[in-house]
Amino acid sequence: MSTEKSEGSGAAPVEAVCPGCGASGPSVRTVPDACADPRSSRSGLSDRLAKAPGAQSKSDSVMHFLEGMVLAGIGAGLAHSGVQNDKPLYTVGGTVLAVLLFVGTVLVVRGESRDRTLVAAGRERADRLWRPAHHCASCESVFYPTGSPWPGPLTADQFRKYVWTEAGYHKHIEERLRKVELPPRTPTGPEGAPGHA
Ligand SMILES: [Zn+2]
Repeated sequence: MSTEKSEGSGAAPVEAVCPGCGASGPSVRTVPDACADPRSSRSGLSDRLAKAPGAQSKSDSVMHFLEGMVLAGIGAGLAHSGVQNDKPLYTVGGTVLAVLLFVGTVLVVRGESRDRTLVAAGRERADRLWRPAHHCASCESVFYPTGSPWPGPLTADQFRKYVWTEAGYHKHIEERLRKVELPPRTPTGPEGAPGHA
């Protein structure tokens, strides 16, 4: 007896089955879908699965610069009135204040700009790893249905550490996540055939 056609050869998309608990269907969603759910931002899931660190926007940086310059200007004004009124304490204090605020502001704004560049540089790589991942609401794990680029289930923390590390966001990985270890990357062998209904 020969079977005429094999059952699993259709071109239908493979249903994502969680390798952690075997769940499929509504409890398994892609990470972008899971993050887009308003409930996820309330529960903090969106943050735990965040694709990239939040960087200050350019307009925020402009505001920070202006605020810093206004404060430095106040210091300079104080120094100026010290010169006018022959009060050396004001002159020295105002000058020190103005210089510190000016230098501080430049450093902050430069740091923000560097962060923006870093996040932008890793965006494509982060997106490639983040987008195809699936989140299982039943056991809270994250996995790639195809087993690639990472075989087996990851916790949300492990997943974010993986994506951020690969995208070059090491510096932004918080202390808590630094201690999180990724599981050994063992090939899972031939994937369990999604046959049993
Ligand atoms: Zn699961």
